[in-house]
Amino acid sequence: MSDTPLLRVRELRKHFPISGGVLAREVARVHAVDGVSFDIAEGETLGLVGESGCGKSTTGRCILRLIEPSGGEILFRGQNVRQLDRTALRALRRDMQIIFQDPFASLNPRHTVGGIIGEAIDIHRLARTRAEREARIVELLETVGLRPDHMRRFPHEFSGGQRQRIGIARALAVEPRLIVCDEPVSALDVSIQAQVINLLEDLQDRFNLTYLFIAHDLSVVEHISTRVAVMYLGRVVEIAPSRGLYDNPRHPYTEALLSAVPIPDPRVKRQRIMLQGDVPNPINPPSGCHFHTRCPIAEKHCRQEAPALRESSPGHWVACHLRG
Ligand code: SF4
Repeated sequence: MSDTPLLRVRELRKHFPISGGVLAREVARVHAVDGVSFDIAEGETLGLVGESGCGKSTTGRCILRLIEPSGGEILFRGQNVRQLDRTALRALRRDMQIIFQDPFASLNPRHTVGGIIGEAIDIHRLARTRAEREARIVELLETVGLRPDHMRRFPHEFSGGQRQRIGIARALAVEPRLIVCDEPVSALDVSIQAQVINLLEDLQDRFNLTYLFIAHDLSVVEHISTRVAVMYLGRVVEIAPSRGLYDNPRHPYTEALLSAVPIPDPRVKRQRIMLQGDVPNPINPPSGCHFHTRCPIAEKHCRQEAPALRESSPGHWVACHLRG
């Protein structure tokens, strides 16, 4: 992991209590995030990948404290995010922003685009006059490839890709350092996905942005990520520089995910690894290595002890008793 990270996450946990009975007592817990650790260096993109329900979006929301973590540590520029009061948290929200998967649901349908972007400017008092505010909105729209006159229109008048550009402009309005991109292209057509990813890459170069890029598909994060972390049932099972992970996956779960990614070169064949069964219920995750119920090479020991994340080669971390 890097020496001077912009963001440091250690042993992050989020357990959602489930209540039942007449007294609505806690009867179980969903172990959504179960001890996640990683660093993100300034200017890099960490791809966070895993199947639906693995805890990746919950991790992103905990980092911004949109939901409160149950345990662990989040350090942003050395500042302990979990200990911030409301005022300090508001200041931090200028530095950390989020782009959502469904831009339509996250954009107020009753507000014009100018109103949506302007709200972020107003909250953080980033314009002194109306003219300055409007000029900033125009600048942001042009930055994300939209036109100045779009500011007077409403979200329903735009396509999915354009709506995601509005979400990006809103995030950029406060000049953040870190943006959590929570499946920002999953709801878009493939051709539009590439355009939005290219835009995010351009913006990263231009404004020295740092991204946590969440996706359920390894092919989506391949080009944009400096490093990739793979999650399974609330835990990181592998984290490595992007090329190293794609060329030499170590964890059996990463191997299976990668085997489903199409290779553009028809001469290269990769054998598809079909995992047995579904992802287990996070209310009652399997003992030891959470992956043992589906792992093709599991041994007895895997059911008893959870493997620690170990550095198998420089910068390449794996949580597996046999491959670590
Ligand atoms: Fe498979 Fe065991 Fe490694 Fe888990 S620890 S991934 S069950 S081999």
